[in-house]
Amino acid sequence: MLAYQHAYHAGNFADVHKHLGLRQLVQAMMKKSSAISFVDTHAGRGLYPLAAPETQKLGEYRQGVERLWQRRRGIPADSPVGEWLAALATLQPGAELSRYPGSPWWLGSALRAQDRLTLFELHPGEHQHLAEQALSTDSAVQRRQADGLKGLVKGLPVSTPRLCVLIDPSYERKAEYDEVAETLRQVVRKVRHAVVLVWYPLLPAGRHQTMLATLREAGIPKLWRSELQIREPIADRGMYGSGVLMLNPPWQLDRELDRAFTTLAPMLADGARHHGEWWTTENP
Ligand code: SAM
Repeated sequence: MLAYQHAYHAGNFADVHKHLGLRQLVQAMMKKSSAISFVDTHAGRGLYPLAAPETQKLGEYRQGVERLWQRRRGIPADSPVGEWLAALATLQPGAELSRYPGSPWWLGSALRAQDRLTLFELHPGEHQHLAEQALSTDSAVQRRQADGLKGLVKGLPVSTPRLCVLIDPSYERKAEYDEVAETLRQVVRKVRHAVVLVWYPLLPAGRHQTMLATLREAGIPKLWRSELQIREPIADRGMYGSGVLMLNPPWQLDRELDRAFTTLAPMLADGARHHGEWWTTENP
């Protein structure tokens, strides 16, 4: 079953949370010159025109990226949100916000000569879009139409000194929560210093709690958790927040992101709030 298409949700508050965290993570890792292999296990398309019928259908970007874009003149240019918006502006053909990039662009546009990026996308149609989407660093990018979690583990260890992974499934299947937890355990076993960002939804059914509990029981060290809640959970009303787990975040990134997301939350919705905590290690 591959029904999910990210174009219906592109640029929503969860994308803002995830992609701002991803950009800050990449920037922090790039303070050191040694090469990084990036792996995006669930890549999606790479670029989403906001005028597309799918994106217009739900219009979720209006409660996400568009809110920040409209407020951008009041946001300090040297803050994480300001820098993220400046990066987004480089992608727009004009002064208006008309395109929203997916994780392949956020990762691909940051690559240095020594880095590599592998993008997994299983859906044939979504993979076709991804294949057609050129990235400025294409010679260092591999696109694979294959299962991202299996492909990630199969490719370990990597040939570069460092590894940075984005795991961002659609969680269409309940089993995906367990599969993500198991994959994280295997990644830690094979590459102890791997840096991994896992995104998960906050849904009224609370399925992410099992995944978090499994990871805590597994005793995986240095796992930081960030949750952005935009409203109270209400049965049948879908996603009320967005979660990001970071394995081995670079030094002080937890504090930096905590500040950035705390500033970001009220820009997205009245009463929205952020909570960050070390999930498997007390503030190391
Ligand atoms: N990471 C993207 C971003 O941030 O812009 C969004 C990804 S979207 C939430 C999940 C994607 O995973 C969908 O495009 C879906 O087709 C793809 N997918 C689903 N199952 C997959 C699998 N087993 N392996 C790789 N991709 C898969």
